[in-house]
Amino acid sequence: MSANADLEKARTGTRVVGAGRRKEWTGAVVNPPVWRASTHLYENTAALGATARHNEDGRFHYGRRGAPTQWALCDALTTLEPGAAGTVLYPSGVAAISGVMLTLLRPGDVMLISDNAYDPSRSMGTGLLADFGIEPRFFDPLDIAAYESAFCERTRVVLLEAPGSLTMEVCDVPRLAAIARDKGATSVLDNTWAGPLGFAGLEKGVDVVLMALTKHVGGHSDLMMGSASAGPELYAALRKRAQQLGTVVSPDDAALALRGLRTLHVRLQQETQSALKVARFLSQREEVAQVLCPMLPGSPGHETWKRDFTGGCGLFSFVFRGGTASARNRFVDALRLFGIGFSWGGYESLALPIDPRSLRERMPWPQGWDGTSADDRHAVRLAIGLEDPDDLIADIEQALAAWKEG
Ligand SMILES: *Cc1c(COP(=O)(O)O)cnc(C)c1O
Repeated sequence: MSANADLEKARTGTRVVGAGRRKEWTGAVVNPPVWRASTHLYENTAALGATARHNEDGRFHYGRRGAPTQWALCDALTTLEPGAAGTVLYPSGVAAISGVMLTLLRPGDVMLISDNAYDPSRSMGTGLLADFGIEPRFFDPLDIAAYESAFCERTRVVLLEAPGSLTMEVCDVPRLAAIARDKGATSVLDNTWAGPLGFAGLEKGVDVVLMALTKHVGGHSDLMMGSASAGPELYAALRKRAQQLGTVVSPDDAALALRGLRTLHVRLQQETQSALKVARFLSQREEVAQVLCPMLPGSPGHETWKRDFTGGCGLFSFVFRGGTASARNRFVDALRLFGIGFSWGGYESLALPIDPRSLRERMPWPQGWDGTSADDRHAVRLAIGLEDPDDLIADIEQALAAWKEG
């Protein structure tokens, strides 16, 4: 196994397979063992004394600073994120968001939050962060002029997400990040949808890229974790704050995340292909008014996605043509191959009725892009997994019949 420098030049599959597999951590086996450890033992008092002077990655100190299982996962994620100096792990995606915000923000600061951000990010702004004297302001990420004028002297952080949660709008992340930098603010991207293989956030000008590893990296719906990666200065600040907050992840979960990571590229490729097939099918159905799938030509945001992204995933939404909320729910209940659930990124397909009306302040969804009133826009989010897409399409077809029955 070569050094990381060689891996960074390799193609995606090769990088995903090799990342983080340092000989000093794996020993004679393929994967780093699960190091369950609170206490690290020192050879003698001189070694104990020496450790107090060092706080670096890859050094034993105490359980909260992790052990080779967690270090290997951090190292792998850093290798996969061009421009990253390091990666901090958090016990969930939401914990990654709060960990990053509690690093970057101080009382009196203003935080700009993309109006289509993940709902818990919104409520973190209006709840936790507001309680600590930070002022959240929401902006429409598709309206550059409004975004620019939302800045003030106290604006310290901008939280971006692309595509937007539930409604899947694709904003111009490089432009928004560049504007934030010009204004002296730090840009943070929730990159859970695309991950580093689909969108190289730091390379595109974002300052901090975070992800819910719960989703694609875990990949099997059996763990919760988050990460944040950044260049040298911000990485050091994030790491220090995480240590102050006592943020840890278990070595068992880190080992599971590493296992999930090794198939990330093949799963995402397959899910993207299958999602496109399902999205294309839906776009041709008379029951469907709009498919909100950035990978699908003609879908909102497709051109920006094509310009900036190198991959997609199985998650997208669609809007019924008319009907009622109960007909939409009948459709979801009639699906046999799709589970009903919030999280996604696992190998199995999911469906979720969505209604973003209460989750938007500034975005056009309440009016409806297609001119229909919000009361008549009944939508579903699908997470396409690794089942055969033709079986999924047949399942959707029979559920559409149930939608029509009401
Ligand atoms: C799921 C998700 C999160 C939160 O991740 P958890 O691990 O569930 O806390 C954050 N951002 C986005 C976009 C997500 O989809």
